Amino acid sequence: MKFKPANKIQDLQYFGEFGGVNPSISDSSTYTFLSAKTMFDTFEGNTDGCYLYSRHTSPSNLYLGEALAEMEGTETANVTGSGMGAITPVLLQLCKSGDHIVSSRTIYGGTYAFLKNFTPKLDISTSFVDITKLDVVEKAITENTKVLYCESVSNPLLEVADIKGLASLAKKYNLKLVVDNTFSPLSISPAQLGADVVIHSLTKFINGSSDTVGGVVCGTQQFIDDLRNVNDGACMLLGSTMDSLRASSILKNMRTLHIRMKQHSMNAMYLAEKFEADGLKTVYPGLASHPSHELFSSMMNEEYGYGGMLTIDVGSLEKANELMELMQHKNLGYLAVSLGFYKTLFSAPGTSTSSEIPEEEQEEMGLTDGLIRFSIGLDNDIERTYNMMKSCMEEVGIMMQEAETI
Ligand SMILES: *Cc1c(COP(=O)(O)O)cnc(C)c1O
Repeated sequence: MKFKPANKIQDLQYFGEFGGVNPSISDSSTYTFLSAKTMFDTFEGNTDGCYLYSRHTSPSNLYLGEALAEMEGTETANVTGSGMGAITPVLLQLCKSGDHIVSSRTIYGGTYAFLKNFTPKLDISTSFVDITKLDVVEKAITENTKVLYCESVSNPLLEVADIKGLASLAKKYNLKLVVDNTFSPLSISPAQLGADVVIHSLTKFINGSSDTVGGVVCGTQQFIDDLRNVNDGACMLLGSTMDSLRASSILKNMRTLHIRMKQHSMNAMYLAEKFEADGLKTVYPGLASHPSHELFSSMMNEEYGYGGMLTIDVGSLEKANELMELMQHKNLGYLAVSLGFYKTLFSAPGTSTSSEIPEEEQEEMGLTDGLIRFSIGLDNDIERTYNMMKSCMEEVGIMMQEAETI
């Protein structure tokens, strides 16, 4: 049977204390016990349904976590204060001094900086590889490797990871496959394809209103329990906990995620096809010209489309900057990092979100100066948006073929 993540989110019901249609928000950092014995047992992790202290877990965080676990089809999940607050404890939980990670080289700048600059201080080393080449990935695995790390759709180059292929490598060498699915919620379900741990920055599409940071780790009950363990759990001890008020507001936004993803995908597809037909170098997994179009298609939950992210290359940073400033001036979107907002967001990754990556490495991975990353918004009239974007491009003198106008 087909995996239907949005159905699974919708089927989950939690009522509020007084029959409210939304679960009550737990506005407490600490919880009372009727007996001292129960408190002790809770500390030991031996009670179900008891809360101890909100850095450990809280009802509101649990509701949101369960919705996200339903979305990914994992046993459970733990929400965190940010996406990085999910990624870093997972890696530190899975690796100790002397261990090794094989990671995609095209990943979120913060994750890259963590693996490149921070974990070496703990004697955890990382090999960065072209994740689209399974033979290259396999060659990088050593006897110390513990984790295979990638993004389903990578930031900012939109490379697509062969999750099934990576999962079988992980099995073969007894590694954990950790997948950051931030760019493709609902569209791709990594755990269904064999990933052990699925991470999201909730900051992006899932919350969708650019009003908070947040993150989640989806995995087995055992792994999530390990992360929350009061003695050696990285989530518990590093303390990147989400606040209950925020968890409840993200849960409410999540209920419209499927509608938003369909609109983001539809708009991005429309623009990608138009830009490509205009002769612009366009990267979008929904285009037949994308090197991993077939792979994405084979992995996707079709109804949600190929996602809201696309890139174009306008040749130089100057042109990119000029175009972005003009588009913002015309109210077509905002010159801002991040993604998943109702409004289109655009930035030049080389000088912003991926600036942690040294220039020569950027070049090697195909991250060019003129690259603009778009998170396409929920525009109601995408044809109007396209026409306005096109006149901006003409105004700043970006070369386009004589396009047939509709
Ligand atoms: C934004 C982002 C992160 C980091 O999330 P924060 O919520 O900003 O901490 C991680 N991975 C990807 C792919 C992202 O886009």
